[in-house]
Amino acid sequence: MLVVRTNRAVATYTVGITILATLASAAVVYFAMVTFLPFARPFLGFAMTLAIGIPILIAAPVAYLALRLMQMTQRGVDKLEDFVKFDSLTGVLTRHYFLESVRTRIGEGGFLFLVDADHFKAINDTYGHDVGDEVLRLIGAALNMATPETALVGRIGGEEFAVFLPGMSAGDVTRHAEAIKQLIAAKGETVGEYDIGLTVSIGVAEIGKGSTLTILMKEADENLYVAKRSGRNRYVFSQNDPGLEKPDFKEV
Ligand code: GH3
Ligand code: MG
Ligand code: MG
Repeated sequence: MLVVRTNRAVATYTVGITILATLASAAVVYFAMVTFLPFARPFLGFAMTLAIGIPILIAAPVAYLALRLMQMTQRGVDKLEDFVKFDSLTGVLTRHYFLESVRTRIGEGGFLFLVDADHFKAINDTYGHDVGDEVLRLIGAALNMATPETALVGRIGGEEFAVFLPGMSAGDVTRHAEAIKQLIAAKGETVGEYDIGLTVSIGVAEIGKGSTLTILMKEADENLYVAKRSGRNRYVFSQNDPGLEKPDFKEV
């Protein structure tokens, strides 16, 4: 399928299509006149002028208009794709796109992190919504920076983000969770002129045999809840971690 995005592509294809149309028309007229109409030879020059001139006059503008239309459509499709794929505030993947990607790649194994800003409401209330938005952008950027290229980073909603680390082993979890915590703490210490002292809590879930997205999200969410309940600014991998109180979810 022909993809036309740039003005350069429109120009190149317009020239290409016009040349093709002109060559085809010139070849047919020349062949027909030489082979079947030898008596019309004196008019060969005139016929060839028409055979070349008419396609140029018709093919060039028609091809240009059609290609411009394709370009506009393609740009619309690109914009729509970006809208579906990327969160407009933070630039990370949207909830829908992230979760669908994890669902289709769950067979690769690995880990899911749910990363939630601590006391974010207080940041909004104290410094204003704009500073809150800046903090969200900062978290998105830090998550992309602290995780490998292969990781997917999404915004699940509000001040809650998620990271999918495909094919990771349990040994890598501590390293990545610490890297995320430390980078966010370093970048979020001050935002603009304000001393925010930003921290995040992380709930980790491992993809196991028979894992579904629902089970994975539930496990990560439960671990995030434990991280919040046990003091925030930490990650929880397993609810059996010593010293962590397992919450009674029916209470909440
Ligand atoms: P916890 O440490 O337990 O996670 O507490 P919290 O204050 O971070 O969480 P809570 O759920 O109480 O508050 C989340 C706040 O996030 C409330 C909501 O107004 C704010 N919020 C949600 N989306 C946005 C956004 O796009 N921009 C800004 N600035 N704030 C948002
Ligand atoms: Mg929060
Ligand atoms: Mg939250």
